[in-house]
Amino acid sequence: MECVLLGTGGMMPMPGRPLTSVAVRTGGSVYLLDCGEGTQVPYKAQHVGMRALRMVALTHLHADHCLGLPGVLMLRSQMEEASPLTIVGPVGIERFTRNVIRDLACRITFRLDFVELDPRDSSAEPDKKSPLPTAYIDDLVTLHWLPLRHSVFCVGYRLEEHQRPGKFSIDAAQKLDIRPGPLFGRLQAGETVTLPDGRTIEPAQVCGPPRSGRHMAFCTDTAPCPNLYRVLSKVDLAFLEGMFLPEHAAEAVQKKHLAVSDSARIAERSGARETILVHLSPRYDNRQARQVDEVAGAVAPNVRRGRNGERFEIKLPD
Ligand SMILES: [Zn+2]
Ligand SMILES: [Zn+2]
Repeated sequence: MECVLLGTGGMMPMPGRPLTSVAVRTGGSVYLLDCGEGTQVPYKAQHVGMRALRMVALTHLHADHCLGLPGVLMLRSQMEEASPLTIVGPVGIERFTRNVIRDLACRITFRLDFVELDPRDSSAEPDKKSPLPTAYIDDLVTLHWLPLRHSVFCVGYRLEEHQRPGKFSIDAAQKLDIRPGPLFGRLQAGETVTLPDGRTIEPAQVCGPPRSGRHMAFCTDTAPCPNLYRVLSKVDLAFLEGMFLPEHAAEAVQKKHLAVSDSARIAERSGARETILVHLSPRYDNRQARQVDEVAGAVAPNVRRGRNGERFEIKLPD
């Protein structure tokens, strides 16, 4: 799994600092998290791959998180025979998208499917022991979500690869007199097989327990809230808002955003392995932005500022 950080800005795109957006690549597919004004520019520059894009998930309907969607759709429409695309976002995302397409007479050449998340949905606030609700699922990944705490309805996302089959044990297979060959592959793929002598072998007899896939999270535009910890819990890589330096911490509270020290503290307590801070306030120039690393690093060593265009490879644990 590779995460490409397309931009790190908040509020408005700035020269050299596109708006915060992450493209996640795994198994030949791409999933885009947030799509603010101009996102198609770094998307193209970073060679993420438009044909492979299967889903776009938006955290909330503020311009710096969704206004780039028409541009991405139009760029993708230049390809021949593009596959359908799923758009996930807060309730209202379908109306917004379809109105823009109609009013600007955009020629979109592929099918659009929508998943609208609703704060009134009973699954939006599961109790602590229930799994996180699912917004999207395909053959490779599941996208989970929970509401965060912002000036409008805003959700945090957690993208998980599916579990992988357990490790195949040649020893166990030989003890059961299974000959090396196609049967090995079928058992490893999770299939129950019948041997030439009539015995039935279950995958669990020759494979270890299922192995976890890789997990990443994307949370931005929120005040501190309990759901943040659940979305970020023990992920391999987290992208988390770190909008304000300590001198503007009061403003962070007032505008329902995170100050850098809060972000670092929350990341540390949630058990995220590595956390990248994004959605920097446009008031800070690049020199001031370096303070983000100092402030975050003083709280937790595995929390730091992201760089525009930075790529993160998440390796399988085994
Ligand atoms: Zn924002
Ligand atoms: Zn916002």
